[in-house]
Amino acid sequence: MQFYFLVTSLPAFFPFLCSLQISTMFVKTASAFLAFFVLISCVKPTQEKASEDAEYPKLVVGIVVDQMRYDYLYRFQNRYREDGLNRMMKQGISMENHHFSYMPTYTGPGHASIYTGTTPAVHGIIANDFYDKVNRKFMYCVEDDSVEVFGAKQDKEKRSPKNLLVNTLGDQMKLHFPGAKVISVSIKDRAAILPGGHMADGAYWFNSEEGKFVTTSYYVAQMPAWMNEFNAKEYPDKYMSTPWNTLYPLQTYTQSNPDDSPYEKSLKQGGKPVFPYDLPSLKEESGYGALKYTPFGNDLVAEAAMAAAEAENLGIDDVPDLLAVSFSSTDYVGHAFGTHSVELEDTYLRFDSTLAVFFNYLDKKIGKENYLTFLTADHGVAMVPQELIDRGVPVGYYDEKSLERSVRGLLEAKFGGSDLLLSYSNNQFFFDHNLAKNLGIDLHEILHPVMHHVMQFDGVYSVLSRKDLMHKSFPEKINRQVQKGWNPRRSGDIAVIWQPGWISDSYDHKGTTHGSPWSYDTHVPMLFMGWGVGDGRASEPTNAEDIVPTVSMLLGIESPIGATGDPMKSVIDENN
Ligand SMILES: [Zn+2]
Repeated sequence: MQFYFLVTSLPAFFPFLCSLQISTMFVKTASAFLAFFVLISCVKPTQEKASEDAEYPKLVVGIVVDQMRYDYLYRFQNRYREDGLNRMMKQGISMENHHFSYMPTYTGPGHASIYTGTTPAVHGIIANDFYDKVNRKFMYCVEDDSVEVFGAKQDKEKRSPKNLLVNTLGDQMKLHFPGAKVISVSIKDRAAILPGGHMADGAYWFNSEEGKFVTTSYYVAQMPAWMNEFNAKEYPDKYMSTPWNTLYPLQTYTQSNPDDSPYEKSLKQGGKPVFPYDLPSLKEESGYGALKYTPFGNDLVAEAAMAAAEAENLGIDDVPDLLAVSFSSTDYVGHAFGTHSVELEDTYLRFDSTLAVFFNYLDKKIGKENYLTFLTADHGVAMVPQELIDRGVPVGYYDEKSLERSVRGLLEAKFGGSDLLLSYSNNQFFFDHNLAKNLGIDLHEILHPVMHHVMQFDGVYSVLSRKDLMHKSFPEKINRQVQKGWNPRRSGDIAVIWQPGWISDSYDHKGTTHGSPWSYDTHVPMLFMGWGVGDGRASEPTNAEDIVPTVSMLLGIESPIGATGDPMKSVIDENN
C-alpha cells in the first residue's frame, strides 16, 4: 500500500513546483536546468503511482475492549481461535509496548484519548464523574440536560459529547470525506458517545432498566426504525434465559485461581462467586443489569454493531465510514472477579469467539482487504491487592474518606475553615479560591501544609500542586503522566499519586480497579489489521494518543484538532 499522506498531496503541489521552475529557468544556469529535470524525474513516477492506488478503506473499525490488560493477549492465547484475536495478532501488527501516557486511567478519559489523539489535559475528559468548579456540582462526562432521550425514561440518559473539548477521528473523516458515516455502539454511554465524537450519525448504548439500546436527540430526530426492530428482538432476555457456564470444562481453566476464590465479589447477595451463574434468577433479582457482568453483554454489543452496519450501509460505497465498538462486559467482570478469576478467563475466551463472528460478518459484507481494524483497551487494571498481599507483595488499601476528613481538620485548625475544601475526588483536592481570597489567604499558603500533610498519609506515593503542574517540566515519567491527565481549567489544585498496587479500601479486599499511572493500568493491547497494514510485532513505545494520528496518516487526512500524539512508525513503515 502507498504512503497516502505524501502521495495524495503531491498532485496538488506538483503544478506549483513546475511553474516556479519554468519562470526562473530562462535566467538560470545550465545546472538549474538540469535540476529541473531531476525534480521532474523524482516526482513523476510517484504521481503516477498515486492514481493507481487512490483508494481508501471502505470502513474503519475501532474496537475498544474495556479493561483489557496486555497480558490477556498471551495468557489465554493457546485457547484463542485462529479467526478471533489470533487473527489480529498473526495477520496484523501488534504494538507491544503500548501505554496510556497519563493518569487518570478511567473509561471516559480512555475512550476520549483513543479517539481524539490527545490526553485529558487537552480533551478535558478528566474523569468519568468530575467536580465542576464553576457550577459546584459533579458533572458526568457525557451529561447534557438539553437533549431528549429515545428508548428510555426521559429523566435519565440525557447524554451528548458536549463536554469533550476537541473533535475525533470520526469528525475528521466526516469533514474530509463527504458522505462518510460514523456510528458507535457500546454497553456504556460514555464508551459510545466519546468515540462517536461531535458529528456522529448515531451513538447507541444499553439501558439496563429497559433492557434496550437508547440514544438521544443530539444524534437523531427519533429512534431509527432499525434500532426499534433490534430492540424488539429481545436479545437480553434470550441471553439471560439460561445459566452462564464455562465454555470448556472448569478444570481446564489453568490460567486462573480456583473458581471459589476469596478475592472475588459475588453477583448474588450472599451467594458464592462460582459457576454456573443462574442468570434467570439474577435477572429476577437485579434486572438486566446483571447481563453486563457476563460475557453475553459483549455478544449483545456485537449484535447491535452488526445490525448498525447492516442498516446504515456502512462500508458499502467507496467513502470510508467509521464503526466504533466498545465491549464493556470485560470491565464489569474484571472489577467484580479480578485478573486471575475463572470468570475473567471465560469472558475472554468467549469474547474471542464474539470477535471471530464479528470479523466473519465484516469479511462477507465488506471484504477482508477493504476494512481497517484497530483493537485496544481504555485502561488496564490492578491485580486484587489482597491476593498480592497474601503472596508477599507489599501493597495495600488506602482510606480516602479518612484522608479527606483529616485535611478538613487541618484546614479548620490552621485557617478556621474546613469549607476551603470544595471537593476531594478522583485523587484531587479542589479548594475554594474565592473563599480563600475573602479570608485573605493566598492559595499557596493552603497548598503547602496540605501537601505536607497528605505525604504522611498511608499509601501515598507523591503529591503535585497546581503550580507544579502548570509550570514544571518533569524528567520523571510518573509526574509527566499526571500532567498529561491534568486539565488547567477543569482539574483540581493538588493531585495525589498512590503507591503502586494500592487501591481504595472501598473495594473491601474483593475485586479490583484502575485509575493509576502505574504500568498495570497503562499497558494495553494495540493491534492493527486489514487495509493498509502489514504484520508483525514492534516494541517501540507508543501511546493511546498516537492511534488516531496513525489512522489519520493511513487515510491521508489531518489528525483531530487537539491531537498531540504521533503516528506509530512501525505501522506507517509497514504500510510503505
Ligand atoms: Zn473502562
